[in-house]
Amino acid sequence: MAWFLNRYQCTRCDVEWEDEYSCMVDDECPQCGRDFSPYDSIDKTFAFVEDDRGVFMVEISPDTAEYDPAYEAFGPFADRKIAEAFAADRGWSL
Ligand SMILES: [Zn+2]
Repeated sequence: MAWFLNRYQCTRCDVEWEDEYSCMVDDECPQCGRDFSPYDSIDKTFAFVEDDRGVFMVEISPDTAEYDPAYEAFGPFADRKIAEAFAADRGWSL
């Protein structure tokens, strides 16, 4: 399971862009179409989300995710510590 926010920069056009995908893939420059590898990548497989009731949900992008993160939500948890303990019990870490 994995989901990444990839950041790219075209050295010819001096353009920066971002794209989310299930791995660290090359992407085309939106201006010239040349392929670039991400210069930075943020792992967004897990997220702790506080909703408007003040409770925490754990969101996980499953193995089957490919073109969107298809987040599965677990919870709610009374506070972030409990949510983190839930994730740690399952071997999920940020
Ligand atoms: Zn370019």
